[in-house]
Amino acid sequence: MKMYDVSAPIFEGMPVYKNKEEKQPVLNTSTNGYVTETRIAMDLHTGTHVDSPLHMIVEGDTMEAIALDDLVGEAKVFDLTNVEDRIRKEDIEGFDIQKGDFVLFKTKNSLEDAFNFEFIFVAECAAKHLSEIGIRGVGIDALGVERSQEGHPTHKTLFKHEVIIIEGLRLKEVSEGSYFMVAAPLKILGKDAAPARILLFEGLKAE
Ligand SMILES: [Zn+2]
Repeated sequence: MKMYDVSAPIFEGMPVYKNKEEKQPVLNTSTNGYVTETRIAMDLHTGTHVDSPLHMIVEGDTMEAIALDDLVGEAKVFDLTNVEDRIRKEDIEGFDIQKGDFVLFKTKNSLEDAFNFEFIFVAECAAKHLSEIGIRGVGIDALGVERSQEGHPTHKTLFKHEVIIIEGLRLKEVSEGSYFMVAAPLKILGKDAAPARILLFEGLKAE
C-alpha cells in the first residue's frame, strides 16, 4: 500500500492566494531555553483546506455541516494537466464520474510551486455538470476553485448542490486513478473553512 501526502507545507513565505501578505501565516516561536511553544496566526484558506458554504453564502453552513464520512473514502484523481486556462464541461464529460463520487483534478498547477495568477480553475459549466451528476465533492490543486469570477458562480453552484470543495491540493506525484482518501480538516467550530491534512492511499479499497 502506497500513501501520498497531497497537502501543502505550511511555513512563512509559503505560496498564498494572489501572494497577499495578509494571507501569510505568522508563526511566533518563544522559548525559555528548554520549553518551546509556537503560536500561529493564519487565514483558514491558506494552504490545503476544505471550504464550507458560509465562505460564499450569507448564513451558509459552517464546517460542522460537512460530515467526516464524506471526506473519508474513495476519491478519483483525473489528469487534466493538458488543460489550459480553465476546466470546462467538455474537458470532463468523457470521464467516469458517477453520483456520490469525490473527484480530484490534477492540473498544471501541481507542477509549479509559486502562486500563478493564471492558475487553472473550475469553470461554471463544469461545476454545473458535476452538480447535475450529484458528486460528493471536488478537489483542485489551486488555492481557489475559481479565480474571483464575478459573483463566484463556481463556488455557489457547488455549495448549492452540497458539493464539498477542497482547495490547495498538491498532486504532482499522484497519477490518474482511484484512491482511498482521508481528508481531515481541523475541527474548528463555526467557520467558513479549515486547513486539512489530506492523504491518498493506493491499493486500499473502501468497503
Ligand atoms: Zn477556500
